[in-house]
Parts: sequence; C-alpha cells; structure tokens
Amino acid sequence: AIPLVIALSTAVAAKSGILVKDRLALERMRTVDAVLFDKTGTLTRGAHALTAVIAAPGHDEDEVLSLAAAVEADSEHPLARAIVAAAPRRPQATGFQSLTGRGVRALIDNRPYAVGGPALLRELDLTVPPEITKSAAEWPGAVILYLIAADTEVVAAFALRDEVRPEAREAIAQLRAEGITQILMITGDAKPVADEVAAELGLDEVFAEVLPADKDQAVADLQSRGLRVAMVGDGVNDAPALARADVGIAIGAGTDVAIESAGVVLASSDPRGVTGIIRLSRASYRKMI
Ligand code: ADP
Ligand code: MG
Repeated sequence: AIPLVIALSTAVAAKSGILVKDRLALERMRTVDAVLFDKTGTLTRGAHALTAVIAAPGHDEDEVLSLAAAVEADSEHPLARAIVAAAPRRPQATGFQSLTGRGVRALIDNRPYAVGGPALLRELDLTVPPEITKSAAEWPGAVILYLIAADTEVVAAFALRDEVRPEAREAIAQLRAEGITQILMITGDAKPVADEVAAELGLDEVFAEVLPADKDQAVADLQSRGLRVAMVGDGVNDAPALARADVGIAIGAGTDVAIESAGVVLASSDPRGVTGIIRLSRASYRKMI
C-alpha cells in the first residue's frame, strides 16, 4: 500500500505540475548532490535569435538583413525563421532553393544570393573579408551565417544565439540554496557555445560535443565519482541518460521517449521545477522517518 502521506504529496505534486512516475525516484531526490541539465531547450530557449548583423564595407546593415530575409523567406529552418523575424521588411525573392545542411539560395531582382554556414563557404571556396571575421569573433558561442552575392562575394555575416532562458538563472540559485553543490550541463553542441552558456549561468562543469549515445556514460562517470545524479532533459537522445541517473527528470513538452525513461516529469519547461521536486521529496519523506 502507498503510505497516505505520499499519496497526498503526489496529489500536491500533480497540482504543481510535477508528475511522479516512480516513487523511489522521488524519494532519492532529497539526497541528490548533482543536477545535470541538458542544454538546448532546458537551460536555453531551444530557438535562435538574431543578435548581430555584420555588413562588409560598402554595405549597410538594413540592406543586408532585408536581402537575407528575402532569401530565407521560404525556409522552415529555425535559423531562417530567426532572420526573417528580425527583418522589418524584405523584397520579393524568386527561385528559392534549399541546400540541405548548408543553406538556401534565391534570386532577388534576378541577382543570385545565398545564405548559409561554413559548409557553404567551403563548397563555394570563398574567403570571408577580414573585417567580417574580426567582428564575428566578438560573438563567441553564436552560430554565424553568411550572405553571399553571386556565389562569389561575402557581403554580410549574421550572429544568432540560442538564448539562456530567463528562469534558468533563478533555477540555479534555488538549487544552490537547497544545497546542490554540483550544477552541470551536457550538450552535443560545440565547446565554445557550451562554455558561453556555462559562464553566463555560473555552472560548475560542462560536457560539450557529447554524442547522443555517450550521454548516459557521462552520467555513469559522475556516479562513479560518488555523486547522486539527477538528470534533466527533454530529447530522445536524453532518454538513456535519464534512465541511468539516480533521478531522471523529463521536462516540458518532452518527447515520449524521454518521458518514458524518466522517474519524474515536469509539465512545464521551467527549470525552476527541479527545485520543486527536491522540496517535495524532502517534505514527503521527512514525515515518514
Ligand atoms: P542542424 O540541425 O545540426 O543545425 P542542419 O542540416 O539543419 O543541421 O543545418 C546545418 C547547417 O547548415 C546550419 O548550421 C547552417 O550553417 C546551415 N543551414 C541549414 N539551413 C539553413 C538556412 N535555411 N539558412 C542558413 N543556413 C542554413
Ligand atoms: Mg536540423
């Protein structure tokens, strides 16, 4: 039988958006000393925003942004949506073409333009004007896209960032107040991107460029250091790590696989919910001893 106090707190939990799937996981939560967050969509918004427009000499920012938005208008890619959203106006483009994994191409006034990343530059064998490279370097951790005219000239660069969730900072402060000594982050993203987020949030350690299949090994490594680990994530690629952790927490509109592998599910994507689980765990199990 389920002790009454736990049945009650499970009901309280459900009201606060905490779904307890595994009561033992909830019980373990009160003794956790490390919380490992997945980055994208958990600590960050999971969507990019345009943060800088860098025009080559002889071009202006409004012009290059509206050209890039015209080229991207028909693209479904999240990076394209960020550029289109940031442009106050855009001319009409024709002949839209998607270059998978590299960028997009279209005609504006019958002149060919492309927007894409480093792979597109390599394919077209283009060099970036030093002024652009220098300014782009001021945005560490950003995704850089380039606007290319006539397949020959790089006329602008755009820096886009997946921003830290505003609630993430408070979530981390709350966890520290609850005595969590190790607040960590894991991601498949490049190290400079991960380091930027970690510095912004004051995290204790970061694991970057981790392949999906290796995320659960990272959890096991932490456990072998003697840490009790709660892992927080939402993606399919987080599922094995959620299952491996002492407490697996699926967050927000997580994938079904993540939810299946987790012991506790948070209804919202707000990382402050993790502290709610700790408090619930301590309140529920203290009463029983
Ligand atoms: P991922 O999902 O890992 O970002 P994609 O295949 O979607 O991989 O994109 C890989 C890269 O191709 C992007 O990082 C970007 O540099 C470039 N790219 C893809 N689509 C676009 C687009 N619509 N506009 C500009 N660049 C793009
Ligand atoms: Mg993609």
